[in-house]
Amino acid sequence: MGLPRFILFAILIGGAFWLWRRINQRTQSATQPSPVQTMVCCAHCHVHLPEDRATAGNAQQWFCSPEHRALGAKARD
Ligand SMILES: [Zn+2]
Repeated sequence: MGLPRFILFAILIGGAFWLWRRINQRTQSATQPSPVQTMVCCAHCHVHLPEDRATAGNAQQWFCSPEHRALGAKARD
């Protein structure tokens, strides 16, 4: 194998590797969960916060803090 053929071969390998990485990155970003979070409302003070930061109460109620969960649900004024 001559040097020009070796260089051509190296470029082809590098190009294929670059293309594979690009495709891999695109599919990875497509499978990632969306950054949009489910917002829930505190049953006590009615403040909205992301579900992962909220404290779950009973009967599908959400609270912003354990203090508000202890105080319980409060009707909106
Ligand atoms: Zn609250």
